[in-house]
Amino acid sequence: MNAPIQRTGTGPGTGTGGSARPAVPTRPLLVARGLSKHFGGLQAVAELDLDVREGEILGVIGPNGAGKSTTFNMIAGALAPTRGSLVFDGKELTGLPAHAMAARGIMRTFQHNKPFASMTVRENVMVGMHRRLQGALWRVLLAGVGAVRAEREAVRQADELITFVGLGQWRDADVDTLSFGQGRLLEIARALASEPRLILLDEPAAGLTPAECERLSGIVREIAQRGIAVLLIEHDMRFLMPLADRVVVLNFGRKIAQGTPAEIRADEAVVQAYLGDLGAMTDA
Ligand code: ADP
Ligand code: MG
Repeated sequence: MNAPIQRTGTGPGTGTGGSARPAVPTRPLLVARGLSKHFGGLQAVAELDLDVREGEILGVIGPNGAGKSTTFNMIAGALAPTRGSLVFDGKELTGLPAHAMAARGIMRTFQHNKPFASMTVRENVMVGMHRRLQGALWRVLLAGVGAVRAEREAVRQADELITFVGLGQWRDADVDTLSFGQGRLLEIARALASEPRLILLDEPAAGLTPAECERLSGIVREIAQRGIAVLLIEHDMRFLMPLADRVVVLNFGRKIAQGTPAEIRADEAVVQAYLGDLGAMTDA
């Protein structure tokens, strides 16, 4: 994974999020403008402006059907926007397919997903390294070192990621034998294997045990610490609020608020949108 990035100590990007992480730099990595997606007559996402800064944890919340996953699908290249633009690291990416987004450093996990069956944990993560490995292998072969050593290095890096997500003792296990929560952690390791600059996590805490949530929380912090921006959809405020540097709130496809977790909790429009779920908000 990447080396830790330099974080500036001042400026408007200084999010606290209740964590002890240093302040986040303000340079936007992803800039979405007027992003919209219509399904027939339904405006799933409407005129969304969104900035994700380098190395920040940006939370995306909103009631069911608010357009969170659709937003992710557009950023990840799974859905072409009806309107609007996506610029990543200064380059226009609007409407590119998922593999092109991944090649540029945008990786996602899914809200509902299964790892590749009939593979070990390690093999699964190595599939995620595919893009990077091709380049590395090529370089190594050119240097005359040989593929065996490249393979060994790939295994070492896969094992490092597997240990990072807490699956070290299961690295040779068949993925079919993993629990649901372990499968989700594996998915994060696989996404990290391609060395993304932005990782999109769609409700990663859903279905996890409290202990797994705790571990996931540390993993997300560490990912950001390593300089990878995290765009995090999460339903569970108790999980999200202490973690996020900033939070964007969607409702009926529109952004109704954005700010620090403290600002969001105090926002009238957000409280309205979450009527019936106030406990989750105030418990955060
Ligand atoms: P969230 O993730 O915030 O719960 P989604 O982005 O999944 O919301 O959905 C936003 C709206 O778009 C919902 O009304 C949903 O039913 C609709 N929607 C999502 N995907 C599709 C699709 N592929 N075709 C038609 N409607 C869709
Ligand atoms: Mg969703």
